Amino acid sequence: MLASLETVRFRFVVPVAVAAANAEEAARVLRVCARESVPAFLLGGGTNILVSDLGIRGVVVDMSRLTGIQAEGSIVVAQSGTPVSDVAEFALARGLSGMEFACSLPGSVGGAVWMNARCYGAEVSDVLQYVDYLGPDLEPHRYAMERGDWGYKRSPFQDARRVILAAGLSLAPGERAGMQARMLSHRSDRERKGHFLHPCAGSIFKNNRAFGAPTGQLIESLGLKGTRIGGAQVAPFHGNIVINIGDARASDVRALIELVEKEVRMRLGLELEREVILVGDWE
Ligand SMILES: Cc1cc2nc3c(=O)[nH]c(=O)nc-3n(C[C@H](O)[C@H](O)[C@H](O)COP(=O)(O)OP(=O)(O)OC[C@H]3O[C@@H](n4cnc5c(N)ncnc54)[C@H](O)[C@@H]3O)c2cc1C
Repeated sequence: MLASLETVRFRFVVPVAVAAANAEEAARVLRVCARESVPAFLLGGGTNILVSDLGIRGVVVDMSRLTGIQAEGSIVVAQSGTPVSDVAEFALARGLSGMEFACSLPGSVGGAVWMNARCYGAEVSDVLQYVDYLGPDLEPHRYAMERGDWGYKRSPFQDARRVILAAGLSLAPGERAGMQARMLSHRSDRERKGHFLHPCAGSIFKNNRAFGAPTGQLIESLGLKGTRIGGAQVAPFHGNIVINIGDARASDVRALIELVEKEVRMRLGLELEREVILVGDWE
């Protein structure tokens, strides 16, 4: 696939998906895209995106083959395509604490770094020591953690076109039984809340402390749980999750998101900020 991609002249923008096996392959694909002025989208686990019914124009670079985890003392180095939940299990097996929050968090290390994913009172930036990435020059670089660059669901990787290759996570020796108990409790909490019952993208909107309540509660207070458009439904069990109850089109999900935004704006005077990322061609 890679060899042929390099010889393709993109006379039209055609949809192509490439699973890069390593950093060099990702760089080669992106170099071709830059040369041909073809847009490229970096795909992690795909758990936080809503892809248009028209698909993604250009090249999708699937990072899920860049996997691997190793420990260098108490630093755990995980390749970007590694499921972030696997990192929690790896750390547990070595008695290294700090990643328990990510047990059963869907998605890849790259996506979690990009979003500064957070749950159960912790976030990626709490343990991040460095990130290896390809810069806009498509050369490898290392980002050293700077606390001020990070915030609630914010990372410096959202502002610039950079390809996250690996993350160095600084963990600390921990007591295994306690770690395991925390991880089990996070997993069963997600199961109890119905996170894995239907296809969804997790929380649709970010929380905002200034609003005085979690977004899910605000949406619930307006009686919007259970609202349907086509095959998309505001989850009956959580106001901030939209589920696919069988045959939802991306346009159904988007229309439902917009309806919720409008209701919250009109009835509560609040402007919700989306967490889910709309990707592809939207009319
Ligand atoms: C059931 C469910 C529960 C969830 N619960 C939570 C939760 O508790 N907390 C939370 O924070 N999130 C939650 N999420 C959302 C999601 O799991 C996280 O945002 C996750 O970190 C996204 O990772 P991903 O690999 O799937 O990223 P994707 O969805 O593939 O991509 C997200 C963004 O990251 C970019 N990206 C991905 N990989 C790379 C890379 N290697 N280099 C550069 N950019 C990259 C993509 O281009 C895109 O812009 C939940 C989702 C689901 C489905």
